[in-house]
Order: sequence, then C-alpha cells, then structure tokens
Amino acid sequence: MRDTQPELSVVVPMYDEEEVLPIFFERMHPLLDGLGSTYELLVVDDGSRDRTAALLLDAAKDWPQLRVVRLLRNSGHQAAQSAGFRRARGRYVVTIDADLQDPPEVIAEFLATVREQDVDVVYGVRSDRSSDSWPKRTTARLYYRLMCRLVGKQIPFDAADFRLVTRRVVDAVNALPDDGRVFRLVIPWLGFPSTEVRYVRAERAAGTTKYNLSKMVRLAFDSVTAFSAAPLRLATWLGLLGGAMSGLFVVGALVIKLTGRSIPGWTSTVLAVSVIGAIQLFCLGLLGEYVARLFQSSQRRPQFLVGYDSLEDHGHQDPVTNR
Ligand code: UDP
Ligand code: MG
Repeated sequence: MRDTQPELSVVVPMYDEEEVLPIFFERMHPLLDGLGSTYELLVVDDGSRDRTAALLLDAAKDWPQLRVVRLLRNSGHQAAQSAGFRRARGRYVVTIDADLQDPPEVIAEFLATVREQDVDVVYGVRSDRSSDSWPKRTTARLYYRLMCRLVGKQIPFDAADFRLVTRRVVDAVNALPDDGRVFRLVIPWLGFPSTEVRYVRAERAAGTTKYNLSKMVRLAFDSVTAFSAAPLRLATWLGLLGGAMSGLFVVGALVIKLTGRSIPGWTSTVLAVSVIGAIQLFCLGLLGEYVARLFQSSQRRPQFLVGYDSLEDHGHQDPVTNR
C-alpha cells in the first residue's frame, strides 16, 4: 500500500486518547476493511502525553493501512486536521474524531452519497444532540447562530468536523494560508457543491473531552476573527453610544449645577467610570484579538510540525521520542 494512492483517507486527530483506542480499533478495522475501497487510516497524534502513540505504532504493525503521523507538540484539533489534509493521499478524505461520537458506519453513507451525487463535500449533520450536556448544547447553538450570521447562510447547522471532501477541496484548503484555520467554516465558505447526511451523535466511547474551556473559547475567537471585522465596528458603535451618553451627562450635570441643587455625585461618578471603563476595556480586547491575528500571520510560523510519519519510516527514528 506504500506506493499506491488509496481511494479513501480517514483523518483522525488524536490527543491523549489511550482509553478510547482499543474500542476505536475494534470498530474501525472491520468497518474500513469492509468498505470495498482501498484506504489509509491516517491518525494524527497531536502531541499526546499518554500511551496513544505507542498503542498506535503497535497496532500499525499488523494493520498496513494504519498510518501514524505525529506532531512534535500539542497544536490543537484544527492544526491536527491541517496536518492530516496536507498528508492525506486519498481521492476522498473523511475527517472524524477519535472518540466515536460520530458513528464511523456513516462513512459508508458518505461514500455512497459522493459517488451518486455530483458533490465535493458531504457534511455529517447531527440530527439529535441529546447526548451532549445542557451547557454544551447551549453554547453550541449560540456558536452556530453567530457563525451563520458571519459566514452567510450556507454553513450547515450542527455540522462539526465529521465530513467527506474530494481531492479538489483538499487541494483548495491546502492552498490557503495556514494560520488559525477553522475547518467547519472554511469548507462551507469555499463554496463547493455539497450535501448533508444526517446522523445521531453518540456519547464519547471512553475517556474525557479533550476540548477544555480555553480551547473552546479559542475556537470561538478564531472563528469570529477569521470571518468578520464586525466586532471592530461594534467598538465604533459602542464608542459613539458612550460619547452620546457622556454628552447627556454633561448637560445634566450643568443643569443641576445651575439650579443650585448640586449634590455630591458619588453614585453617578462611579457608574460613569465603571461603565465607560468596561466598554473601553472590551474594545481594547477586541482590537487586541485582531492585532494578535495580524501579528501571528505576519510571523508566518507553522501551525504544526510533523515529527514522524510511518509512511516515511525507514527504521532510523524512535517514533515515540522523535529521536
Ligand atoms: N483533539 C486534538 N487536539 C486537541 C484537542 C482535541 O487532536 O488539542 C482531538 C481529540 O482527540 C478528538 C477530537 O479532537 O479526536 C475532538 O475532541 P473531543 O472529542 O475531546 O471534543 P468534544 O467532542 O468534547 O467537543
Ligand atoms: Mg468528542
């Protein structure tokens, strides 16, 4: 399989997934073998600190289609997908999470759909979110509403990173600059013909979520700043509003002064200072987000570095330590 181009690449970003791996292999192996297409299972180990890499390499010994790519350090879910897109060789590329929340059986449906219809993207869309916790559902709903407004109507609701794309899309994505890429927005934004397959999302098969709060907030900020300058304008509007309000304050204060009913204005002072202070800090923060984005893209640093790829392994390197 080394030299032949597989029909399908299944890209799986993994970060500290040792608990889920045995179940993952057990479910994936017969399923992919049974698809009737040549494939590579391209696992991108996103700098895991647990036994994920060791388990993967062990499994790859008697599973030639399992290809292990290791990033040098934890670079995040989106960067790991970028790495997968760069390295994948398949004519079709499916991305799927490691935790089996997205049932891999749907991959067969993706393939059938893309072969039947003349499309380049097949989104997996969750028809039911009851397996997610209430805060997750609420924040997710907010996120998708906001993103639909920012990117335009064409982003499919509740489609995360479970999808199939054709080689055309992979090449288009790889041609984009790499910084802060959010796949679930970039792919709809490219505008290739697409369709949806609905599925029911399950619970995480084992282990705990690898998306902590700061990673979720990061994703939300990257999503907004990558697609919209509207927040910057929000700052302008808030500034105008603040200006108008302080104008009213000045007039009010003068009237009070002139009518001789001047009172020690502690409350209003504190109120004004804190409200305006909050608005200013918020706007500064917004500016900071965009400046940071510009800064990062001007640095032109790679989002990830690949330390090991089992496809290029000639036996000189210890893949677990990268030495
Ligand atoms: N993941 C990753 N790098 C990270 C965090 C997560 O590659 O820094 C992977 C993780 O192993 C999983 C996928 O991204 O395959 C989605 O993560 P998870 O299921 O924990 O997120 P949730 O479903 O809770 O949003
Ligand atoms: Mg998950």
